[in-house]
Amino acid sequence: SYRKGGYHAVRVGDSFAGGRYIAQRKLGWGQFSTVWLAYDTQSSRYVALKIQKSAPQFAQAALHEIELLSAIAAGDPSSSKFVVRLVDHFKHTGPNGQHLCMVLEFLGDSLLRLIRYNRYKGLELNKVREICKCILIGLDYLHRELGMIHTDLKPENILLFSTIDPAKDPILSGLTPILERPEGNANGGVTISVIEKKLKRRARSAVARISGRRESMGGLPKPKRTVDGIDMRCKVVDFGNACWADKQFIEEIQTRQYRAPEVILRSGFSFSVDMWSFACTAFELATGEMMFTPKGGEGFSEDEDHLALMMELLGKMPRKVSTLSPLPLVRQILQLITHFYIFLVKQIAIGGARSKDYFDRHGDLKRIRRLKYWPLDRILVDKFKFSDTDAREFAEFLCPLLDFAPEKRPTAQQCLQHPWLNISNLTQSELKSESSVEKVGVGMSNLQIKVGK
Ligand code: ATP
Ligand code: MG
Ligand code: MG
Repeated sequence: SYRKGGYHAVRVGDSFAGGRYIAQRKLGWGQFSTVWLAYDTQSSRYVALKIQKSAPQFAQAALHEIELLSAIAAGDPSSSKFVVRLVDHFKHTGPNGQHLCMVLEFLGDSLLRLIRYNRYKGLELNKVREICKCILIGLDYLHRELGMIHTDLKPENILLFSTIDPAKDPILSGLTPILERPEGNANGGVTISVIEKKLKRRARSAVARISGRRESMGGLPKPKRTVDGIDMRCKVVDFGNACWADKQFIEEIQTRQYRAPEVILRSGFSFSVDMWSFACTAFELATGEMMFTPKGGEGFSEDEDHLALMMELLGKMPRKVSTLSPLPLVRQILQLITHFYIFLVKQIAIGGARSKDYFDRHGDLKRIRRLKYWPLDRILVDKFKFSDTDAREFAEFLCPLLDFAPEKRPTAQQCLQHPWLNISNLTQSELKSESSVEKVGVGMSNLQIKVGK
């Protein structure tokens, strides 16, 4: 992809925007861009430099992303809404063409990495609550204040960040939670590594500050340090697929596992698709497993499997037409007409362009039969060993968000009021589950900070 129209090749030390930004190291890449850690010589901060591929369709997409990110930044001057901040944007001409570049605040690793580094065991519920609050504040801002739908919410698109204000101590902006790569992490725990050698000394005192302990600047850093109660926060990123609610272009949105039923059925979508993905994300944080992992099979598609999995967890879609009972012929005909009418209305109200392909007139899937109903609170207890109380409370929080009828799902604003988010003190059951987490040596309570190597 490093050819005309594709990525721009970057070397460490390359400068951008007339020397303002200096490339430090590659942070990641996607289908559209490569993202580099860069030093902003003007503000003396580290930033993430997203360099788009140069072909016209990528430039077009970048312009759209810049438009959305600019609106996000304009509406949130104090940057308190847990959404990534666009700092600057410019064009950069290289051998492969002209690349649009976005300068974003530098954030840490994604929640997907966090889940992986926790060995897919799920995070403590108190951590899940904190993360959920950040995401919901972000979504409420996007939805209610801006009229924007993210359309690709998932753990990969939510990045951790340190709450130390980089503006107060620019060098500390290097200390953003970066989880170590699996190969280099023998014990499998969560570690935070500091990238720059020259930052080590300053980072050590920062570690002490995060952990709330004093640390002399002198002696060698201890290789591992457990940190309890780290204020882990996160921000929503990747607005490459986001859209204004009143200007929608594509029908197929969202990453498969986080896709809402109305998107699969092509019945139109709104803000509530993000709420569905949010619920899938919260479940994954708490259990370490994706909520739905549909697969196509013999005689049925991935879409149909996905709908089947949803109905196994949440019950039947609310579009069933009851069967006829043996009645006198006239009444039977009248009922038939009524049922047909109701069926038609329901088709319009809930069913989408694809409903007829997948469902029969009883509201059952045509090609996947005999679904096994296994409700959320039971799964949490049976499979993920939640206590009854934890399971019930968490399921009460998630289930309304997973309503098949999009308009019935709570908004982000309503969700923020939910009691589950404000259970702050550890209940007995949580204390128990916490100690079991500690025994196996994973979980955020065992978060470790590694300074240098
Ligand atoms: P996609 O194919 O997912 O649409 P993309 O080309 O639009 O990819 P992004 O998803 O925005 O690119 O970024 C690619 C990767 O770069 C991210 O997965 C993440 O690892 C890293 N990254 C992006 N933004 C930041 C940031 N602000 N701070 C730190 N790392 C970032
Ligand atoms: Mg992405
Ligand atoms: Mg993108």
